[in-house]
Formats: sequence, C-alpha cells, structure tokens
Amino acid sequence: MSNIVAIVGRPNVGKSTFFNRLIQRREAIVDAVSGVTRDRHYGKTDWNGKEFSLIDTGGYVVGSDDIFEAEIDKQVELAIDEADAIIFMVDVESGVTGMDEDVANILRRVKKPVFLVVNKVDNAKRAEDAVEFYALGLGDYYTVAGINGSGTGDLLDAVVAAL
Ligand code: GDP
Ligand code: MG
Repeated sequence: MSNIVAIVGRPNVGKSTFFNRLIQRREAIVDAVSGVTRDRHYGKTDWNGKEFSLIDTGGYVVGSDDIFEAEIDKQVELAIDEADAIIFMVDVESGVTGMDEDVANILRRVKKPVFLVVNKVDNAKRAEDAVEFYALGLGDYYTVAGINGSGTGDLLDAVVAAL
C-alpha cells in the first residue's frame, strides 16, 4: 500500500473526529488483528483525484510507564514508520501541552512531510490563539475544526501535493 497519511497527537485533540469525517460514507477498513483495532484504524479516501489511506492512531504518550499508554505509543511509532505523510494534531482549546512538545521533539526528526494541524478552531478568537503553536518549532500550521470540516480543504490540498 502506498500514499499513507497518519494522524498522530495526544488524546482528545480530535483525531478520530477528523478521521471519521474524512472517511465518511467511504469504505472503512478496520484492522482485524486482535488488540490493534482499538488504537489503529485505517480508512481510504481521496482528494483532488488522489487516493490515500488514512491511519487514525491512539494517543501518543512519550516516556510513560503505563502499559496502556506504552501500547498506544507503539502504535503511533508504527504509524510514523509506515506513513508517507504525518498529520500532527493539536488542540487550540487546551493550548500547547507538555505532551505536544514531546511529540514535536520526535516529529522534528522525522524525514517525512509533517503537517501541524491546530484543531477546534471554531471561531475567529481561536484562529488568533493558534499562533501559540509556533512554539512547537515545526513552522507554519493549518487550522481546522473537525466537527464542521472547516479548513480541511486547504490542509488536504497540501497533504496530497506531498504524496
Ligand atoms: P482523539 O482522542 O484525538 O481521537 O479525539 P476525539 O476525536 O475523540 O475528540 C475529542 C473531543 O474533542 C470530542 O469531545 C470531540 O467532540 C471534540 N472535538 C473534536 N473536534 C472538535 C472541533 O473541531 N471543535 C470542538 N469544539 N470540539 C471538537
Ligand atoms: Mg481517537
């Protein structure tokens, strides 16, 4: 399989909401391997005539001793290995967190296209608040609202251009 896009980020930033929106009414492929389905969902979609597979991952917890979190961590590491492009999702409602910084430190070294995506940008105030994510050191970002799809087009234009 080629043209794989992985969505990574800490829990509750809105990865699954965004994923479900993109694969809505399209054939969803859920990995059948036991113990994997919970943390790793695959879907096929297309944009501008280009097909790609999307991976929704569990949260990304760095350096955790918790078994469950370590398992999620592993799933995301797999996604990073497997993906051709990575969507790193963060949440403007909560702002920059330590976990975001940990993930950013890892993604800065990934030699693949990484798209920093600030989610939950539901209004103009939140669009302004998003500037704080420059602090992650990943450069420019896209703003989206997974609940209504706003901003998705510009992001996907850039993502499929990188595939
Ligand atoms: P995940 O853990 O990263 O997969 O996050 P989920 O997709 O499960 O979403 C976590 C919470 O954020 C849910 O309550 C969603 O309804 C909410 N959420 C997702 N996208 C948006 C958005 O664009 N705006 C707002 N306000 N809430 C959102
Ligand atoms: Mg999720």
